[in-house]
Amino acid sequence: MDLIDYLPAIVIPIVIIAIVVAGISIAKERQREKRGVSACIYCKADAPRISQHTYLFLLPVFFGATYDDAQNYLLSHMKPIRGTEQIPTGMRACYVEVFLCPRCDKKHVAVRDFLRVRGEDHIQRIYRFPYEAFRPLLDGWEQNYAN
Ligand SMILES: [Zn+2]
Repeated sequence: MDLIDYLPAIVIPIVIIAIVVAGISIAKERQREKRGVSACIYCKADAPRISQHTYLFLLPVFFGATYDDAQNYLLSHMKPIRGTEQIPTGMRACYVEVFLCPRCDKKHVAVRDFLRVRGEDHIQRIYRFPYEAFRPLLDGWEQNYAN
């Protein structure tokens, strides 16, 4: 028998394992979201939300458009807005929240890029980045909109 005959027996279990692992990580992600925690980007522990506000920013992106190098793109294009009523039809926006890890004591932000359709938020992607890079944007938002 050639190696080619054994190949399905090797490949199929690997594919099944990969699907199961991906499914578990998506399920974990949803669980975290429900509990209001975010996986620490440094050590993967559950980090509770510490921001008082859910910061809101407009993105100059329409519908299903995508962008590369998310951190740089977001940092240079996010525009602070007060509320979802300020989002023009068909344009995307993002929520930003800050999380503090109880294990390694580091902060990160979760950026939820969404499209609002008929009053409902449709999340396109969720990104996690170091807090420090986004701090000036969040401080700017607070100066404009926090009471
Ligand atoms: Zn951590």
